[in-house]
Amino acid sequence: MNSIAKRLAQIRTRITQAEQDYQRPPGSVKLLAVSKTRPLADLQALRALGQQRFAENYLQDALPKIATLNGDIDWHFIGPLQSNKTRPVAEHFHWLHTLERLKIARRLNDQRPASLPPLNVCIQVNISADPNKAGLTPEAAETLANELAELPRLRLRGLMTLPRREQDFERQRRPFRELHGLYQQLCQSGFELDTLSMGMTNDLEAAIAEGSTLVRVGSGLFGPRKPVQ
Ligand SMILES: *Cc1c(COP(=O)(O)O)cnc(C)c1O
Repeated sequence: MNSIAKRLAQIRTRITQAEQDYQRPPGSVKLLAVSKTRPLADLQALRALGQQRFAENYLQDALPKIATLNGDIDWHFIGPLQSNKTRPVAEHFHWLHTLERLKIARRLNDQRPASLPPLNVCIQVNISADPNKAGLTPEAAETLANELAELPRLRLRGLMTLPRREQDFERQRRPFRELHGLYQQLCQSGFELDTLSMGMTNDLEAAIAEGSTLVRVGSGLFGPRKPVQ
């Protein structure tokens, strides 16, 4: 097996094992391959192995890949999004995970082509209130969720978080548990959500233990990333 095939098998095993260990239904956690900065050939190799969800952080890096790689792929945008860059996301992606402003939501709603289904969105929550991280407070996330109800070309699917990097398992679990709590609260208020986007290479078991439905894995699939210049 080549290294991408080997890494994919390892990540799938980690997900399946964590589903078992934490009494999650088999198949309830999906794998999102974070392909930022990776060459097209690596994405093609992963696609050939059956991986169908890919995530990108930088538009100029992502758009040529989207144009070239064909065949039933769901593209997720997981990078920071400025209001002057919304159009390519509205036109070329299926999902946005980093929504945190109504102004951006309105632009995406206006720019989403009528020929496409609504854009799936997750609200990014800064659950550990880390001053160095993007995302809304839980209160602001709830306000934005209510405002999105007016925007028919967006479909709110759930919440996303990117907590501070921790090595200790219990410390990893804490922010994920809190995000799950907010998710349940929104579901109880009537939002029909099905996505908790949390967990990466380093902490996917902790995220699955706390209810993640979508883990975003980069280096675990593609190998160590070169630092961005
Ligand atoms: C890069 C990135 C990931 C993947 O991180 P790894 O540690 O390489 O698995 C996940 N989520 C976001 C938002 C990222 O930017």
